[in-house]
Amino acid sequence: MSYTVTLIPGDGIGADVSTAMRRVIDATGVKIDWDVQQAGADVMDKYGTPLPEHVLDSIRRNKVGIKGPLTTPIGSGFRSVNVAIRQALNLYANLRPAKTIPGVQSRYEDIDLVIVRENTEGLYAGIEHDVIVGEAAEAIRVITRQATERVVRFAFEYARKNGRKLVTAVHKANIMKLTDGLFLRTAQQVAEQYPDIAFNDRIADNACMQLVQRPHEYDVLVLPNLFGDIISDLCSGLVGGLGVTPGANIGDELAVFEPVHGSAPKYKGQNKVNPTATIRSGALMLQFLGETEAYERVERAVAKVIAEGKSVTYDLKARRDDPTAVGTSEMADAIIAEL
Ligand code: NAD
Repeated sequence: MSYTVTLIPGDGIGADVSTAMRRVIDATGVKIDWDVQQAGADVMDKYGTPLPEHVLDSIRRNKVGIKGPLTTPIGSGFRSVNVAIRQALNLYANLRPAKTIPGVQSRYEDIDLVIVRENTEGLYAGIEHDVIVGEAAEAIRVITRQATERVVRFAFEYARKNGRKLVTAVHKANIMKLTDGLFLRTAQQVAEQYPDIAFNDRIADNACMQLVQRPHEYDVLVLPNLFGDIISDLCSGLVGGLGVTPGANIGDELAVFEPVHGSAPKYKGQNKVNPTATIRSGALMLQFLGETEAYERVERAVAKVIAEGKSVTYDLKARRDDPTAVGTSEMADAIIAEL
């Protein structure tokens, strides 16, 4: 059995971490034909857009994709390609597990959280305009019952399939009474259909504080787009940082896997950053493809290399300037050797 998967290597550190991921996934023995597609600033000149239609067509055709991070210009320039892929392909659930890996230094030892972020609307709908140029600008925050219902249902189904006990909806319905009011009411209605899973809700600012102080009170979190983006990075921080946390964008028919982290341009081409988040995104992809044994082998190999603490990148060392830290490709070598 072989699979064809779209691979968007990404820019910045994307090439380094995607290459490491590809080598590790190939080393599992699962046969994958990589349909490599380029997107982002680097293809702007050639195609006049950072997200050419043939890239989306490749994912539509293959049904499964994996991508490295892509840089989005700050404050001006083209809109995020990452957000555009999620919207164009209706990948409405952004799944971001944050689980402690033994050996990774962090504040807590036994975190096991799952963030389910709404991925297609909210403040990321991209409806922004100047009211008076340089003086005032507006953004429109879109929340619909349909998009909320499907993402909350996804969170409950995930909870059910994975033996989870609690889903928490995170919102600001106290302030944004119409948009987050709708999000919360819809979540409450969906929750009634899952009497076997506990449900509660938290106001987003309080949720941030409690996640830092008492993360064990949470299990699966479901959030509108912006809060999900921010709080999933916070949860990455609870388990050792962006270098280790994988992610998946999932729709009804298609899925695109990617690390939570961005393109960290300052480390471009240095073979320096941690490939774990992208490798674990590849592992999630194997799990999605039904290759459960290969998924578990990758997770175990990654955990072993990290627990040994020898062949790991700078961010997993007690001191970031530790000269014994290895590079991206050397950490991938160690994971492959473990496999
Ligand atoms: P970033 O995630 O690139 O970096 C934030 C911090 O985390 C930096 O200190 C970086 O060094 C560290 N870091 C990130 N990945 C790491 C890894 N694999 N190993 C070790 N350390 C790692 O976030 P940013 O600096 O805010 O954004 C940079 C660019 O990435 C922006 O253009 C942003 O739009 C883009 N971005 C893309 C995605 C995506 O492709 N899905 C996600 C987030 C940000």
